[in-house]
Amino acid sequence: MVPADYRRVRPLNHRTDNPADIDSARLDWRDGHPLSSVFGDVYYSRDDGLAEACHVFLDGNRLATRWRALDRDTFTIVETGFGTGLNFFAAARLWLDTAKPGQQLHYVSVEKYPLSRSDLLRAHQAWPELDFLSRQLVDAYPPLVPGFHRRWLFDDRICLTLIFADAIEGLADLCTSDNPAFLHHRNPRADAWFLDGFAPAKNPELWTPELFNTMARLSDTSTTLATFTVARTVRDGLAGAGFTVSKAPGFGRKRDMLVGSFTNPAVSPPGHARLTRGYEIPWHLPPEPASEKRAVIIGAGIAGCSTAAALHRRGWRVTLVDRHATVAGEASGNPQGILYPRLSTQDLALSVFGRQALCHALGVYPDLWRHEGAGAPCGVLVLPENDRDLAQFSEIAERYRAAPELVRAIDGNSLADTCGIALKHTRGLFFPNLGWVSPAVICARLATGIEYRQVNVADIEYDQKTRIWSLIDPEGEPIAEAPTVVLAMGHGTGALAQTSHLPLRRIRGQITAIGATEASCGLRTVICGAGYLAPATGGFHTLGATYDINDDDESVRTSDHQRNLDTLADTDPALPALFGSHSEPDGRTAFRCTTPDYLPVAGPAPDAEAFDDLYGELRQNARTNVARPGPTLPGLWVNCGHGSRGLTYAPLASELIAGQMNGEPCPLPLGLIRALHPARFLLRDLKRNRR
Ligand SMILES: Cc1cc2nc3c(=O)[nH]c(=O)nc-3n(C[C@H](O)[C@H](O)[C@H](O)COP(=O)(O)OP(=O)(O)OC[C@H]3O[C@@H](n4cnc5c(N)ncnc54)[C@H](O)[C@@H]3O)c2cc1C
Repeated sequence: MVPADYRRVRPLNHRTDNPADIDSARLDWRDGHPLSSVFGDVYYSRDDGLAEACHVFLDGNRLATRWRALDRDTFTIVETGFGTGLNFFAAARLWLDTAKPGQQLHYVSVEKYPLSRSDLLRAHQAWPELDFLSRQLVDAYPPLVPGFHRRWLFDDRICLTLIFADAIEGLADLCTSDNPAFLHHRNPRADAWFLDGFAPAKNPELWTPELFNTMARLSDTSTTLATFTVARTVRDGLAGAGFTVSKAPGFGRKRDMLVGSFTNPAVSPPGHARLTRGYEIPWHLPPEPASEKRAVIIGAGIAGCSTAAALHRRGWRVTLVDRHATVAGEASGNPQGILYPRLSTQDLALSVFGRQALCHALGVYPDLWRHEGAGAPCGVLVLPENDRDLAQFSEIAERYRAAPELVRAIDGNSLADTCGIALKHTRGLFFPNLGWVSPAVICARLATGIEYRQVNVADIEYDQKTRIWSLIDPEGEPIAEAPTVVLAMGHGTGALAQTSHLPLRRIRGQITAIGATEASCGLRTVICGAGYLAPATGGFHTLGATYDINDDDESVRTSDHQRNLDTLADTDPALPALFGSHSEPDGRTAFRCTTPDYLPVAGPAPDAEAFDDLYGELRQNARTNVARPGPTLPGLWVNCGHGSRGLTYAPLASELIAGQMNGEPCPLPLGLIRALHPARFLLRDLKRNRR
């Protein structure tokens, strides 16, 4: 049964500082313009907010000139205070007009009090000329859940990363390390800063030395900045962190604004409070970004196909190889897979990653669902498995009250109204924008335009001289080569010598496909609980799934169909009656790939031998500070271990490694990058003196 995974999670999983509670912006409206009732300040100039955004942030950073001359693939803007998105619109409009084909803008914005979708829409009514931009943003706008939210917009020409968090925390989470010796090491670089947010007099907590010093960590000597304020604390703070600033003519009635650039990396001190709360040795630092955009991905399930799509959209030449003739030949090949939500009242890494992945999936699947047979965003109704679940549902609904488009609690008759059939349960959690997918159709869509080869890979070899990996078939023949290789082979990843250290487990699962009846066709949503039942497609419902450790039987077993039907009754006692006396069901068996902490494995492959040598001292003292980055195998990456949640987890894990390969801002905070890192088990075992 799918939910069984969660019963096995160790209670002391990696902790993250990322509570689910979020305060959305509280607004007063004056003549159609929003004012923050918390800060008592305006979001933009009432004279002409758009013209002000262009003057202060675009002209202040000389973006038109720089973008016309840009000879790189990407440009990164980092902003404090997303607000109504007006600065984003101004930048997006200019970028779409100026940038060359293939160039991509990364727009990262940190916002502690995000506007709701309806407030955004209302605010945007003031600029009908931005309607085209507004519609895309509002459609893609993430639910108000704290953390990182990535959306690709405007035909992949702009990548928006919204970080719903305190600015200083959020920006520190973009950095690759919190180790004092590595504060400036391979951080993503802001090419331009938009320092917005409410004025220093109204919001002094934002404009602190910690902010400026964290900015310095994300800057280099070509970085510029612009801000509407000329407050002395801001000028001094920026200068103290290594920026050179000067006054420039302000917009409208404002006499001055501030422009500047990062000129003096030597002066910037560490500057983030969390350093005093302990830090980690830099075992997880990402390698240098790839110099050549060419990769082979082994494994064409949801992990491999999502990675292929993530690299393809960044202009990489990708070859997808798999031992099957078509994509989705193994775990990703069930007829229906569920975007199965599991929110928690705790903020352990597993639950925080799970909800970030769910929010990411909400941005990824709507486009894919448009294709014939890809599935349906029919909503997912989660029923309690026991009294504890029932008690937690209220708490979860309360925690996510600002995100009703993600989840809400429903009771009594509204359960039947929502899912279309009468249930015995009287309370559930409803996820209106999730649903089911056909993994094979999704994989095929993701792999569109990507070279595909059927190859059984027995081994991979690296040539130090040419810096190229070769894939070797079972006859010992080289069959493909590339400087970058991604291992997305599910449990097969552990069969390669380079990644045999990963503690991957192969877990058998069987789904049951049962014929639809008149009664069962009334089911409109997915129902999840002890097991799951999807609405009918092609005359069948998928229900599942068994979960068997140490079981290599590839056949489909009648006894397992019975187990799935029994689980259906546990999910809700009213469900089996939908099917009456049914004919012998059909089904499919496949094997999940799980990890001991139930988090996926996504990141650069460590060089296990060198890792053991470098960090060997940890065997004696787990707190030793070895100030050297964890060694990785050049150009080798891993994306596997998605357990029972691959359809939700894989798109975000793929976006993470594609971003790391390109040296871009990541779609996950530092804590979760570590939690997913392929070297985490090596580190754990060294610290326990088990290696
Ligand atoms: C019964 C069952 C029900 C499930 N239900 C759900 C669900 O409802 N929702 C959900 O999110 N998840 C579900 N899962 C889990 C989900 O299917 C997996 O998490 C996901 O498919 C993993 O994708 P993947 O790409 O990592 O692995 P896979 O899909 O297994 O892809 C790995 C690929 O690597 C290839 N490969 C391996 N070794 C080699 C080699 N040596 N050479 C060449 N190719 C190789 C394989 O052929 C395979 O195509 C279910 C799993 C099972 C078993």
